[in-house]
Formats: sequence, structure tokens, C-alpha cells
Amino acid sequence: MPGLVIVGAQWGDEGKGKVTDLLAERAQMIVRFQGGNNAGHTIIRDGETFKFHLIPSGILYPDKLCVIGNGVVLDPRVLLGELDELRRRRVDVSGLRISANAHLIMPYHVMLDTAGEAKLGKLSIGTTRRGIGPCYADKAARLGIRVQDLLDEKILRKKIMAALEPKRLSLRPHEKDPSLDLHTMTEEYTAYGHRLEPYIADTAHLCWEALDAGQTVILEGAQGTLLDLDHGTYPFVTSSNPVAGAASVGAGVGPGDIGEVWGVAKAYATRVGAGPFPTELTDETGRLMLERGHEFGTTTGRERRCGWLDLVALRYAVRLNGMTSLAITKLDVLAGIDPLRVAVRYRSSEGAALAEFPYHQSILHGASAEYEELPGFSAEIGDCRSEADLPPQAREYLAFVSEFAGVPIRLVGVGPDREQVVWMGDRPALRAA
Ligand code: GDP
Repeated sequence: MPGLVIVGAQWGDEGKGKVTDLLAERAQMIVRFQGGNNAGHTIIRDGETFKFHLIPSGILYPDKLCVIGNGVVLDPRVLLGELDELRRRRVDVSGLRISANAHLIMPYHVMLDTAGEAKLGKLSIGTTRRGIGPCYADKAARLGIRVQDLLDEKILRKKIMAALEPKRLSLRPHEKDPSLDLHTMTEEYTAYGHRLEPYIADTAHLCWEALDAGQTVILEGAQGTLLDLDHGTYPFVTSSNPVAGAASVGAGVGPGDIGEVWGVAKAYATRVGAGPFPTELTDETGRLMLERGHEFGTTTGRERRCGWLDLVALRYAVRLNGMTSLAITKLDVLAGIDPLRVAVRYRSSEGAALAEFPYHQSILHGASAEYEELPGFSAEIGDCRSEADLPPQAREYLAFVSEFAGVPIRLVGVGPDREQVVWMGDRPALRAA
């Protein structure tokens, strides 16, 4: 069985964590391929809540390898904090592997992120200010510090010096900040290296071994398709590529190693931060989605903007990712909203009907959504476990979404708990561990 990619089909926070957790049951390896600790997965297991920012959620299974791939940027402080917390809760973390080629978030990245956003003022992107963007920028500029550099103090010091040099001017306001002192930083990061060393590995090689042995490898994306650096609503995007194609680069496997692509979308839509959102609701219904769906960021606690499901954007995501299956989460949140609406086209500010997701920023910013109205369902669906348990209107809603998007819905979320899912058709036959 080849690799299986899981991506967000919207603006992130779709509930990928839970879908990954469910599919991971029958995989041997779970790899995160991009992003940093700007992502947040929440997994509820037997009433216990686990929040992950960096470590793949598969770590809750004792027998699986959980990989932080080369495409990830990682803040060692955050990673070590997460490891300590998991150990404290008696989770076995020995299955963690960290790519030696992953890039490190340094204290100056966090400072530059905050300073950059403040400077943009009203035009700010709404980044999580965790230093992710500046870290990816250094990676592209060949000024990045990688996980492997932690293991050689001399090299580490040299690289930090080289990375700091072109930033002197922008870091001037932080000149006196002790955490920017070259020796302090080198010492601090060397100490992180000692603690992380047992987990550092050639993770691409581990993926090949698993794939060659016919095991299932899950490649887990963070954020979502519409936040993709190349294909999302630039510049209101993340600084990496959350689309399925990037799984290959960010984990070190070939495109031919990827057999399935699962997209995860909510039954409605949310977006954090600034940027276009054609189906946004600023009324009572939007408020209801926010409250019923607990739409507050895992990483920042920020209120998410809420709106109707956007099928124009979803169909775009399906094609862009080569999606083979769709998981629809949080259908339960829509109970009691009648009628339901889904966007089926946009109208440009000049009055033109747009069937496709517009590539031009100005057109997208001026576009308004046009809707198909579908009957709502009033019953709570949290106890439904099969398709037949769902109210007919909920099934009709799912059928409409699947038909429009052109991809089968295989999994439906009906509540936050792990058990609160409906498998549509057959449960995927992944190889047993
Ligand atoms: P991710 O980053 O894509 O994993 O998304 P988040 O973890 O930020 O958001 C998922 C949140 O929604 C978590 O609190 C989940 O427990 C919750 N969740 C996931 N699936 C469902 C569902 O089907 N219904 C409801 N009500 N909540 C869900």
C-alpha cells in the first residue's frame, strides 16, 4: 500500500487531526510534511484532550513511527515542551523521528515575525507570530539553521553568525535582548540538540523502507489548500505549501509513492486572520457556527470567521490536490440551521458569473458568493454511526457536496469525540499493522 496524503481542503482547522488519528489506526508511519507550530491539532481520546502543534498526532499509538519531515520548520523549545507534556501524561514518545534536514526556528525569527506584522499595520496577514515565515525565508535564502547543525557547536555558531549578519538593521530594536546574544543562542540550541539527538534521523530513508515493505505511510499536512503559498489567496497565506504535491518534497518520497489523497473539509467554512472569504457570515447564523463549532484557534485562541460551505473553492481544492476521498467534519454543527446554503458560483463586482475559483486577486476580493439552498435538519446527529442513521436532509446535503466536488465522501464527523464518525460505504482497507 503506497502513501496516503491527508490535506486540509479549506483554510485550515478542518479537523485533520481527528481524521489522521482515525486513519492512522491502520498505518505504520505518520509523517508531517510542512508548516510549523502554527498548526494545531486537537485529539479527544477517551475524554482526554490532547493538543499538538508539532508532533504528529499518531504519537498516541505506541507502535508507530511519527516523523517530523524535512519540510517542517520546528521550534525546538516548543517541541521539547510538547515532548515533556506527553511524557508527563505517560505517552510513549519513543516512536518520534525528526528529519536532520528540517529547519529550526530561532529567537530572531519570532522577533522578525512580530515586527513584520506590526509594520504592516492594517495590511497585516494575521500570522501566528511564531517565526514560521521568517524561518522559511531564511531556508530559501540559504541562511537557515537545520536540525543537524545542532549536533556540532562550531558549525552552529558559524551559521547563526551568518544568519544574523543581514538582519542587523531589522533586529536593532532588539539589540539588547539577551536571547539574541550569539554565545547564549549557541549554548541554548546546543543543549536542545543534546536532548533531541536520540530522535534525529534520515527520515526520508525511513519512509522508503516502510513503503518498500508495503506498509501504509500517512503524510499529514497542516493548514489548508487555500492557505497554500502558491495556490492559496496570496498574500493572505501561510509560508509553505500545504497541498498534496508538497507531501512528496516535504517527506522525501516520489509522487508515485502517493496512492491516495484525502481532503478534509468542514460542513461549513472558517478562516482565521485576514484575506478574502466569499461565503463569510457576519450575522446570527455565523455566530451560531462559531459557538456550536467552538471556532477558536488551537494555537492562538483567536475567534475564527465563519460562513457557508464554499463549493467553488472546494472543487478547486479537489482538483489541485488530486483528491481521491473527502472527509466532511462537523456536520453536527449545522443541526437546526434551516435552510442550509452552499456556494455554487461567484459573482464578480462587474456582474460576471464565475464558475471557477478566480486566480486573480482583485477578482476574488470583489467576488460575492451565490448559493444553492438545501433543506436543513433539526435533529442532533451526534449518536449517528451509519449513513442510514443520518436524517435524510443531512444525507441529501452530503450527496450534493460530493456530486458538486466530484469526489466520494468516505467519512463524516458528527461530533468532537473520536467515536463520533460515520464511515460512508466501506471502511478503507488499509493494511493492518
Ligand atoms: P485541525 O487543525 O484541522 O486538526 O483542526 P482543529 O484541531 O483546529 O479543529 C478541530 C476541532 O474540531 C477539534 O476541537 C475537534 O475535536 C473538533 N472536531 C473534529 N471533528 C468534529 C466533528 O465532526 N464535530 C464537532 N463538533 N467537532 C469536531
